[in-house]
Amino acid sequence: MARVAVVGAGMGGLAAAARLAKSGHEVTVYEQAAGHGGKLGTVQRDGFTFDTGPSLLTLPHVYRDLFAATGAPLDDLVEIVPVEPTCRYRFPDGSELDMPHAEQHVEAALTDAFGPEAARQWRAVLTDAERLWDLVGEPVLQNPLSGVGDLLRRSASVRDLMAIAPWRTLRGLGERRLSDPRLRMLLDRYATYSGSDPRRTPALMTVIPFIEQRFGGWYVHGGLRRLGDALYGRCVDLGVRFRFTATVTAVESGSGGVTGVRLRDGERQPADVVVSDVDAEHLYGNLLSDRRSHRPHRMLRKTQPSLSGFVLLLALQGKSPQPVHHRVSFPADYDAEFDSIFGRHPRPVPDPAIYVCAPDDPAVAPEGDEAWFVLVNAPRHGDVDWTTPGLADSYADRVLRVMADRGLDVRHRVRWRVVRTPADWARDTGAVGGSIYGSSSNGPRAALLRPANRAPVPGLFLVGGSAHPGGGLPLVAMSARIVARMIGPA
Ligand SMILES: Cc1cc2nc3c(=O)[nH]c(=O)nc-3n(C[C@H](O)[C@H](O)[C@H](O)COP(=O)(O)OP(=O)(O)OC[C@H]3O[C@@H](n4cnc5c(N)ncnc54)[C@H](O)[C@@H]3O)c2cc1C
Repeated sequence: MARVAVVGAGMGGLAAAARLAKSGHEVTVYEQAAGHGGKLGTVQRDGFTFDTGPSLLTLPHVYRDLFAATGAPLDDLVEIVPVEPTCRYRFPDGSELDMPHAEQHVEAALTDAFGPEAARQWRAVLTDAERLWDLVGEPVLQNPLSGVGDLLRRSASVRDLMAIAPWRTLRGLGERRLSDPRLRMLLDRYATYSGSDPRRTPALMTVIPFIEQRFGGWYVHGGLRRLGDALYGRCVDLGVRFRFTATVTAVESGSGGVTGVRLRDGERQPADVVVSDVDAEHLYGNLLSDRRSHRPHRMLRKTQPSLSGFVLLLALQGKSPQPVHHRVSFPADYDAEFDSIFGRHPRPVPDPAIYVCAPDDPAVAPEGDEAWFVLVNAPRHGDVDWTTPGLADSYADRVLRVMADRGLDVRHRVRWRVVRTPADWARDTGAVGGSIYGSSSNGPRAALLRPANRAPVPGLFLVGGSAHPGGGLPLVAMSARIVARMIGPA
């Protein structure tokens, strides 16, 4: 039995803690905040409940597997329901597409919205994405990755890969294969699911729309936070110890490997194994002084950090006549958004794509009212000083104005609102600059530069959205599975 210190009670940390406790290890989680969940946060007030981070669950089987492997089934604890449509997209010309939850209805929906040729082109792109998923998707996501050799070994057929050329950009793929500019916009959007720029992210990202289409988009009744609560409960049942408001200021090591963690008040806690769920940039930049960590830190610095998010939580009076769970409305100039975030002169995006999550769920709002979560992509804190007095509120007003211009005026219905900026993400979750997904996928080598799950310091492992295989709820749980397998049973 090893003494395991998990740093961070985000979903990656919790998933690792549950698996390791189930394998017989003695696990303690150290979390700087007063509670669990990390980016999967919640705000509850006056009968309203908001998820502050994730709002769409994909690949729910990853969490079903986790719960099955560590005790009773997940579906005994939370109700996971399909979202129909998965999303309503509104394009700059005012046209709309309701993307159905069930894959077999996608072609008809696209034909209705854009015509049969556009639907055929989309199907062809996603058919290639399915091949990519089979070739590199699952094998790579489910296993450690430590270099090009690993990537090629895990790819069933190099020739097939060459034909699809997933290292070309997502934008390039859209331009070559999709003639309707609205579908190109839709494809571009998926780059942002890894916090990236479609003009630089590899076409490999087409696996994201494929996953969403094949496996559907899901919601957890009562809010996605309930998934985090269930996982925390599972950890407690398995005997995991939690230390909240316990900020780790150093991961300590000797010649043999890690020796433990040091807390802000100077307290030292010995450990045989340390699993870090904190942003890898923070781990390698601030918590480790071991020389063996210099190389991964250097590699990380070669990547571009992922974008951050500006969030509005709106407690709305009254109900929409036709509630839509997820909506995205696109700006006229989508490139301007990526220039504002990743360009030389970062600034809050003046005319952003706007995502709204409005669950039609009585558990999250008082009767007759609605709880809306609004998210726009934003430059990191540091690239823009999001603590500048007045900036957050004036930008929130701007986002509401842009929504109104695009036919979604809720300004007269706002009972109260909470604004969360990249500076809040940085402060509350330790994500450097408030990056949502660690490093971005910008550039053909980005996936290979993403920190590995096994650190060069023996006994130190990385889970969570900034490590392999990446960010998002399913992927961080996959990272925990990889690490639990590396550490093995007690
Ligand atoms: C606005 C937003 C929208 C999102 N939407 C979606 C979505 O729709 N679907 C989806 O799948 N994913 C979404 N995501 C991404 C998803 O939330 C994350 O990938 C996932 O929750 C990250 O989990 P994690 O384990 O990597 O770590 P985090 O959630 O980042 O947790 C890290 C934890 O470590 C703690 N910590 C940091 N430093 C220290 C320290 N020194 N000592 C002790 N503790 C420390 C932090 O307080 C935090 O609790 C979204 C994220 C955001 C922010």
